[in-house]
Amino acid sequence: MPINIAIDGPVGAGKSSISDAVAERLHILHLDTGAMYRAVGLALLRLGVDPGDEKAAMDRIGEIPVNVRYVDGKQHTYLGEEDVTDLIRTDEVSAAASSVSRWPAVRRAMVAAQQRMAAETDMLIDGRDIGTVVLRNAPVKIYLTATPEERARRRYEQNMAAGDNTPYEKVLEALIARDHQDMNRATDPLRQAEDAVLVDTTQLNFEESVEAVLRIVGKVYGN
Ligand code: C5P
Repeated sequence: MPINIAIDGPVGAGKSSISDAVAERLHILHLDTGAMYRAVGLALLRLGVDPGDEKAAMDRIGEIPVNVRYVDGKQHTYLGEEDVTDLIRTDEVSAAASSVSRWPAVRRAMVAAQQRMAAETDMLIDGRDIGTVVLRNAPVKIYLTATPEERARRRYEQNMAAGDNTPYEKVLEALIARDHQDMNRATDPLRQAEDAVLVDTTQLNFEESVEAVLRIVGKVYGN
């Protein structure tokens, strides 16, 4: 059986960067499943389809070739042969990803692809439904979170460093709206799996968060 580690949590909890660091230390691959929903969102925008239109998304999902490959151990996300890794990080694509991730047909396609990858390869997978749906039998499940205020503060500081001066209150408002959307959608909403270990990073710095996750993994897979 390949190593499978499931990490879920809300936006801004540090999932991606913590998962990257943990996977690197364990010498396994990290699959960021949000990137796949983002690629679907980008593809629909390019097709001129409203990502909020369920029927249109359902009709077109079969022709959207989302692929993930690893280059020097790092995930690259593709639409067909086009590497869209950097193109999927815009606010427009974030919003589109949030919309399309509500649709069962889209989720089914992404979940199936994620399960195929995890069945063949040692992987740490992060997302919103990994412990509850994608890897329901994962030996290690972690729910990574922090208070909305702390998550918004981190996002605000990242934005400022990148030259985006959106006020803190607006960042917090958008984050709460996205939490609400992720936690209340009908299909596979974000929630902590019953057998997931909670890691609250509100009081932890990055290194402490990585160590906390590694300790939990170590209990199951050894060090
Ligand atoms: O994690 P990230 O912000 O990149 O995810 C983009 C969008 O994809 C989120 O809005 C989230 O709702 C959705 N998503 C999901 N299920 C996953 C991963 C992401 O619904 N496993």
